[in-house]
Amino acid sequence: MNFTDLNLIEPIAKAIQEQGYTTPTPIQERSIPEILNGRDFLGCAQTGTGKTAAFAIPILQNLSKNKTPNKNIKALILTPTRELAIQIEENIKAYGKYLPLKELVIFGGVKQSGQEAALKRGVDILVATPGRLLDFIAQGIVSLRNLEIFVLDEADRMLDMGFVHDVKRIIKLLPQRRQTLFFSATMPSEIQKLADSILNNPIKVEVTPVSSTAETINQTVYFVERDDKLDLLTHILQNNISDSVLVFSRTKHGADKIARKLQASKISTEAIHGNKSQNARQNALNNFKSGKTRVLVATDIAARGIDIDELKYVVNFELSDVSETYVHRIGRTGRAGAEGNSISFVDGLDLANLKNTEKLIGMKIPIIKDHPFHTDNLVAQKRDSNNKPSGPRPERPKQQTANTKKKPAVDAGKKPKNKSFFRKK
Ligand code: AMP
Repeated sequence: MNFTDLNLIEPIAKAIQEQGYTTPTPIQERSIPEILNGRDFLGCAQTGTGKTAAFAIPILQNLSKNKTPNKNIKALILTPTRELAIQIEENIKAYGKYLPLKELVIFGGVKQSGQEAALKRGVDILVATPGRLLDFIAQGIVSLRNLEIFVLDEADRMLDMGFVHDVKRIIKLLPQRRQTLFFSATMPSEIQKLADSILNNPIKVEVTPVSSTAETINQTVYFVERDDKLDLLTHILQNNISDSVLVFSRTKHGADKIARKLQASKISTEAIHGNKSQNARQNALNNFKSGKTRVLVATDIAARGIDIDELKYVVNFELSDVSETYVHRIGRTGRAGAEGNSISFVDGLDLANLKNTEKLIGMKIPIIKDHPFHTDNLVAQKRDSNNKPSGPRPERPKQQTANTKKKPAVDAGKKPKNKSFFRKK
């Protein structure tokens, strides 16, 4: 199927073409005709499947039929994080570039005056996080009385982040007669119940279940002692990879430490996490997207929904205790069919998580040994609640003494010998 088969109006077709999209993703193929027909929709899909365009395109087309412009909010997209909200609004802006519709994004953590002024000027499509939206509703700045379309995005994350109560309060304020589109990567029973209670005879589409990692992602594991991880990261960034890299860190402190070390090695790096202001996070994200910063180090929460076109590398500095997190993390690369690479650093503390992750994704992740910090002697350890090793540190393997461990096995300045690094599965 091609986008031209979807009966899109000219201004949208043109904007999509400018985005470089030619073929709709599987969820878009199913959602666009049904949503255009006014049906409710339940999409079981995670970020990376093209789900934003799957709802944004038909919403734009449906709303563009309204002949008389007015200031009413006609579509509301509720999403759990600021980063996701900003990205959704950016996508709507791009797809609706040639339409006279106005879109706006609102989220907390920043002054409300700018968002309030924009709302007063009139908004057709509002993208919002739950807290700021409820604030504005309580202040009488937002009214949802004339809403025609409601999208609940990342419903399972809303639950994880404790927003379900807020979401239910918002749903109570919506008109009964409306079109509802519901998206969630997973369907725990509470989310299923919520979907059942707000959807009216929906079309259901499930794509890429959470346990399947995109086939286009070349996944690898590096066995490395905990204390060598920073050196290994510096080494591969200097010798093996010339592209941008998104690095995941378990902790905010860890993210800062990684960023400091890379900066000291003259690798342009920024860190984003919950202790940084919204502006600092957005600036760091913009710098990374534009290529000004080569490496972005992020915690899982800060990285939620980060959408970077053509991101080729994700590094897991540690593996998460929650195996599904691995799938979400590496899903930042290899998007919409593009090729991607994920590299996971595994020390003794990560061994159990590696086992669980491999069980979840149903495959063994190949181990890359051809690097100067490889060790075959990892000793399984458990993390205590402070992320510290609970067992004694294993002895360092003899060949990696203080003198030799920092010396790369590949000659400085030369391209890496380990072709296997870029090997496809
Ligand atoms: P999403 O799942 O909405 O986060 O989208 C993932 C990425 O795929 C985004 O970078 C989109 O710009 C991109 N994308 C969405 N639909 C298409 C398409 N039909 N063709 C190519 N890229 C797409």
